[in-house]
Amino acid sequence: MANASDHMLAARIASETGNLLVELLEQHEDSKRPKGGIEYLGDRTAHEFIVDQLARHRPGDAVLSEEGYDNPSRLGADRVWIVDPLDGSSDYGWSATWSVHVALVEGGRATAGAVAVPGWETTWATEPTPRPVMSRVAEKPLILVARSRRNVDGRLLHAAIDADIAAISSAGVKAMAVVRGEADAYVHGGYLYEWDSCAPVAVALAAGLSACRVDGSALEFNKAEPTTDGLVICRPELRDDIVGALAPLA
Ligand SMILES: [Mg+2]
Repeated sequence: MANASDHMLAARIASETGNLLVELLEQHEDSKRPKGGIEYLGDRTAHEFIVDQLARHRPGDAVLSEEGYDNPSRLGADRVWIVDPLDGSSDYGWSATWSVHVALVEGGRATAGAVAVPGWETTWATEPTPRPVMSRVAEKPLILVARSRRNVDGRLLHAAIDADIAAISSAGVKAMAVVRGEADAYVHGGYLYEWDSCAPVAVALAAGLSACRVDGSALEFNKAEPTTDGLVICRPELRDDIVGALAPLA
């Protein structure tokens, strides 16, 4: 199982990668940014830093990164780091909604992880565990969905449980908004890659939130096809209502 230093390592790498990405923006003011967008430079810089850190500190562990080659030897590995060096990359450079994901997977479960959101100047990790989510005062639950899916996921949730819906970028940012108690749930009805969901799920579970697929089943990581068929991260008391609302997608 993950040990104390795994939690600390995940937090440190996510946090330092976030700082590196902020520095990269500072070095490239708007007029000096590549025409195709600075996110490609961000993706590459962040990926190289994370892979180098893991090679140095966990040389025996496998790595699956959004920006790297998928080495099938990870399928037989006891310990696999699943990382998204820059999540919400289309927002990188002009909004606060991008994040860095670093998670350790053992036996199909995320056992340690961290999500850095530099725009909110915070890194959340599995240890120390996030502060427990306080009770909400709003009458209606606020549910975050992907911009690309608001007409599907948002519509279903609004119709079934009269939730307020907001659409923002980055799986990590949406999940951490729930961890911070600013939203009640993050729902994604379509498929995601494991690097999108893995670290946010690790942190959300450590915060006492529920995390499951849209049909309510358990999440599994480091699969041959590294995707997640839908994701719900929410306050535990909302889980059944949300899964029920998403039944048409399950
Ligand atoms: Mg990415």
